[in-house]
Amino acid sequence: MPISLSQKEKIWDDVLKYIKERLEDRHVFDQFFSTTKIHKIEGNKILVLTDSKLAYSLLNSNSTYKNLVDDAVYFVTETNFEVEFIQPDDIQSSIQTFSDQPKHTFFQHCSLNPKYTFDNFVVGSSNREAVQASVLITANPGESFNPLFIYSKSGLGKTHLLHSIGNYIKEKRPFFKVLYITTDAFIDEFVKYVRGNQDESLKDFLKTVDVLLIDDIQFLSEKTKTAELFFNVFNFLVSNGKQIVLTSDRHPNDLKGLEDRLVSRFNMGLSVNIQNPDIDTCISILKTKIEANGLNINNFDYDGIVYLAENFSKNVRELEGALNRLLFYTINVKHMSKIDINTIKESVSGISSKKKKGNTLTEQDIISAVCEYYHLTEEQVSSKVRTSQIALARQICMYLCRTMLNTPFIPLGKLLGGRDHSTVMSSVEKVELMLKTDLSLNNAIDDIKKLLNS
Ligand code: ADP
Ligand code: MG
Repeated sequence: MPISLSQKEKIWDDVLKYIKERLEDRHVFDQFFSTTKIHKIEGNKILVLTDSKLAYSLLNSNSTYKNLVDDAVYFVTETNFEVEFIQPDDIQSSIQTFSDQPKHTFFQHCSLNPKYTFDNFVVGSSNREAVQASVLITANPGESFNPLFIYSKSGLGKTHLLHSIGNYIKEKRPFFKVLYITTDAFIDEFVKYVRGNQDESLKDFLKTVDVLLIDDIQFLSEKTKTAELFFNVFNFLVSNGKQIVLTSDRHPNDLKGLEDRLVSRFNMGLSVNIQNPDIDTCISILKTKIEANGLNINNFDYDGIVYLAENFSKNVRELEGALNRLLFYTINVKHMSKIDINTIKESVSGISSKKKKGNTLTEQDIISAVCEYYHLTEEQVSSKVRTSQIALARQICMYLCRTMLNTPFIPLGKLLGGRDHSTVMSSVEKVELMLKTDLSLNNAIDDIKKLLNS
């Protein structure tokens, strides 16, 4: 069986990790190794693409680096591959690999994630319709249903499917312009654009794409001006036979704070729902992820796998989190290769006890719920990043901790990335003020409280 793109990437990621840990000079790694990619595996030869002439000659000629690479490849694959570094000029297709980077000034941080593909998406009765519709879209972009609207609760694979659609279309039709963006990035880009330091028009730019994939469209609610631009672009693209795929945490008819004309456009195509996976699908997902980590499912007590599937079936992201914790625990802490059910239970006991009902609410619960709602990581919320969605999530955390737990300002600031007393105070006041007029914020806070009670 040929090695898929994602497998190749995984191998090379692991090789780079090994090299990074052992290379004394960090700059050499950053400048020369970190940008290399596997181009092809042919027989026992791995061709690795470098991004410059200098990297090409250094990596092929320096024996220390060559030995390190050989060791790393052997460590990861347990095979004596011969590694050859090549430069972009050596191959035709590499031109595309490196020229694939966006040249426009919009959405610089949005790109397709090659790790999310149809190949590693497990299909079951809960998501079959969504997968079938997605595959149909890729066969005839713009010609089946427009838009395709995928909705579900958090963590059930919407983002994964959206990237899979984009990756597959790109693979089959390399010249198609596929744009994946989050609604949050769209709003930020719109605000930047309106403030006006860009020459190109955002609207004109969006009208040039062949496939527009927008994630979490529910966040467009109450963003009247951005929604107006979106409405215009939407109509243009659909009437020109371009494909639009949207995801949301609810059905179009349940989206509050969006104009009816937009909701009716969303209903024009096909809406498909993803439901909680059944236990068998969860087991298949665990199997796929265990194998993707190069491990054998037979080394895991089957009852333990069923235990994980039963306890984390409401959200695949949590199921993955539980598995990662188990793998970390068994490999790094216990150094085990055969894993029994007790070890499995023990490794996830921290996560499952947090979810037990009746426990007193903590600041950590609030932060987790806000992150779940906005699809952010806890690191993002406590980082210095200030994009509007992250900053808002952080302010909501502060507001909820103050109003629900009465947490003092100073420890609260520390908990959320070392912010000082006055920043926390003004954030809480800001949310209180916004709640008086902002319907979508009121809805968001209600939804987060529901998450805390579920
Ligand atoms: P959503 O966008 O609905 O919140 P994601 O697409 O981010 O969910 O999925 C959360 C995680 O679960 C991702 O890492 C994704 O790869 C994984 N996942 C979800 N569903 C599946 C599935 N059916 N097969 C394999 N992985 C899945
Ligand atoms: Mg998502």
